[in-house]
This record gives sequence, structure tokens and C-alpha cells, in this order.
Amino acid sequence: MSSRSFDVVVIGAGIVGCAVACWCARAGLRVLVLERDGVATGTSGACMGHIMVNPEPEPLYRLTRRSVTLWQELRDRHPELHYLACGALWLAESDADLPLLQGLDRAIAGHGDRAWLLDARELHRREPALAPDLPGAWFYPDDAVVLPMQACGVLLGEAVRLGATVCTHTPATGVRLGPGSRIEAVRTPEGEVATAHVVVAAGVWTPAVHRQLGLPPVPIFPRRGDLAITAPFATPVHTQLLEVAYLRTATGKTIDPEGSEPDPGANAMNVQPQTHGTCLIGMTRQFGGLDRTLHPELLQRSLARAARFVPALLDAPVVRTWAGLRPYTKDKLPFVGPVPEIPGLHLAAGHEGLGITLAPVTGELVAQAITGQAPSLPMAPLGLARGAAGARHG
Ligand SMILES: Cc1cc2nc3c(=O)[nH]c(=O)nc-3n(C[C@H](O)[C@H](O)[C@H](O)COP(=O)(O)OP(=O)(O)OC[C@H]3O[C@@H](n4cnc5c(N)ncnc54)[C@H](O)[C@@H]3O)c2cc1C
Repeated sequence: MSSRSFDVVVIGAGIVGCAVACWCARAGLRVLVLERDGVATGTSGACMGHIMVNPEPEPLYRLTRRSVTLWQELRDRHPELHYLACGALWLAESDADLPLLQGLDRAIAGHGDRAWLLDARELHRREPALAPDLPGAWFYPDDAVVLPMQACGVLLGEAVRLGATVCTHTPATGVRLGPGSRIEAVRTPEGEVATAHVVVAAGVWTPAVHRQLGLPPVPIFPRRGDLAITAPFATPVHTQLLEVAYLRTATGKTIDPEGSEPDPGANAMNVQPQTHGTCLIGMTRQFGGLDRTLHPELLQRSLARAARFVPALLDAPVVRTWAGLRPYTKDKLPFVGPVPEIPGLHLAAGHEGLGITLAPVTGELVAQAITGQAPSLPMAPLGLARGAAGARHG
């Protein structure tokens, strides 16, 4: 490996690094992926797989919409991809939630996109296992569910077939900079690899990687999520389900991850059928550093909430529970693209709860930046400069 030179070295083989490798290899670049552990052993192996269009805010709509379209192209290109074209139902718990559904509908219509408001009868016809008192929902048809670990394999497999090299159990331990702080090489325990471009796709470990490599600080904070999964063929529902109050938990006012107050954590109902008939049940959110220990009380609240919306889940056999760490940024947008102070350095990290969704568009944008093509979407909202205020603790 160290005797060869590469056009680009990707640090991290989670879903984002795998997508970056895939799109860079498609662009004809010679790609090396360095992963300190195994493929998908970080957050991408400990999460849900909802491929999701976010109606708001505008930059997130454009990113998620573009990425969902790229996922659909991946599904067509790779029949082996476990892709469940199930759509998503955003559920109202009571009449008080109905204005939130209408808000989603107005937002999506404003983009010229399509979705449906369902009344109680239409909702229960679509999903008979839902609690009978739910008054309605908003259905977005293009959302889907993938198995994140398998998706990593599909993306990386395509990259390898196009000539990419993957080194697992090989951490990046340093970079060598040349004149003008330009990237010249990446150091690993196996030796130095010459390259003109480095993409840091290390999820919640990106701040640590930057510190270790002497690169500019990046304000990304780990936000834990606890999950449970049922036995195969035990899912009582067939559509991705979220309670519409999720909007408040996921994108509303949140605890300051740098504050001194401990985060009590939050939860909302998120029920996800998978291709094998398993059902993933989430979701919780809590800041608490890099500790991946499950929080049983929060998960219990989450399971109770799921049973409120899908009573049959009370009887579904839960076979495994675990926790993963979302790479959170304060404005809830990822850092994607070049870092101007270090020519040749690119970021692809900080996707919080949307990293599976946003991996393809991230791969596309990074490959475009490296090859000097015009970006398919505006890059300014994704630049590191916007996070400068929080960077001191990165
Ligand atoms: C409970 C939960 C539910 C979620 N549900 C969804 C969902 O439904 N839909 C969705 O879109 N997103 C979801 N997410 C978010 C999504 O999982 C993440 O945004 C995504 O997995 C982040 O991917 P990543 O590649 O950036 O990071 P990771 O998957 O963490 O990959 C980073 C990799 O970098 C490696 N690394 C670190 N340091 C080094 C080094 N020095 N050298 C080499 N390698 C290194 C790590 O070992 C790791 O493998 C969820 C997350 C959680 C926790």
C-alpha cells in the first residue's frame, strides 16, 4: 500500500466513507479507504436505515431530496441492495397534532413535491395495526428503508470493482503537508501513502481525527440513540412510521451539547419495518460523550411510546438492544467539502440522524469538488467556516 500513490484517501468506512469512495471511483479517481476497525463498525452499524426526505428547512430539503433520488438510482443499479420502498407515515397522536401534518404538506407542496394527508379511515386502511384512535397522518411515498451495513457493502463493493483499495484495521495516524499547507501524504502504521486529497469521513470521531492529525477543529458532538429490534417476520406494520412530534425532538430546540447541564434525553416513536420482516424500534436522543452504553430507561420509554401507536408491538419478541452515536452539528447540517486552509483536505462528516439518507449526495458533492466539477447543490451551507463559532471545543 505505502509504495503506491492515490488520488484520494478516505478516512473511515462508515456509510459516508463508503459513498465517498463509490462516487470518487466512479469519477475515475484512484481511491484508498483507511478504516481503523472493520467496515460499518461505527455508527453505520448501529442505526436505523430510514431514507428520508425532510420537507424543511430548504437546504435540508434539497440535500435529502437529491440523496433519495440517488438511492433510487442505486437500487436500480444494484438489485442486491436491500431497499424497502415503503414510504413514510408521519402520525398525529391527537387532533392537536393535525396542524403539524398540514405544515408538512404545505412545505412539500412549496417544493412542487407530492405527498398525501390521510384521515383516520384512510390511515387505518393502509396500516390496520395502528391504534384505532389515531386521527390522521401525512404520507410521503418516496421514503424507503435500507439495511445500513448491507448498504455499506454495496457501495464499497462498487468502489472496489472500479479499482478502489480498502484497508481495514488500518488507522490514519498523521498527514504530511507540503508548501502552502497542501496535503502530500497520509501516515498509517504500515507507512506513508502519497496522495493529493484526504477526505475525513470519521463520523463522531472526526474531531479526534482532526486533533490527532493536526487539522482544524470540527464542532461535531456525539448524540446517543438507543434501539431495539424484533425477531424476523414479526413486524406488524409495513410502512416507516414516525410520530409527527418527532419534528420537535429532532429539529426543534435542543440541549446545548457544550452546556454544563446533563442532558436528560428525549424520545419519540420511530418504528421501521425491514426487508426480513424485523422491526426496528427507536428512537431516543441524548448527549453524553462517546459512551455507547445503552440507556435502558430511555429505551423503555421509547418501546412504550411505540406500543401507544402500534399496540401489537407489546407482543412482538425483542431479540436485541443496542446504542449508536449520531454525529451532531449545532445547525443540523453536515460538514461537506474542501477545508480552504489545507488545500486537498475535505470533510464529509456530521450528518447526525440523516447519515444513511445523505451518504450518496455527500459522495457526489465530494467527488465533484475533487474533480473540479460544478456542485450539484450549493456548498456554502455545508462549509466548515459556518461552524467557526463552536469550533474552539471541536
Ligand atoms: C439510533 C440511530 C438511528 C439512526 N437512524 C437513522 C436513519 O433512520 N436514517 C438515517 O439517514 N440516519 C440515521 N442515523 C444516523 C446515521 O446512522 C449516521 O449519521 C451515519 O451512520 C454516520 O455515518 P459516518 O460514515 O459518518 O460515521 P460512522 O459510521 O461512525 O463511520 C466512521 C468510521 O470512521 C472510522 N475511524 C475513526 N477514526 C479513524 C481513523 N483514525 N482512521 C481510520 N478510520 C477511522 C470509525 O472506525 C468508523 O468506522 C441514526 C443514528 C443512530 C445512532
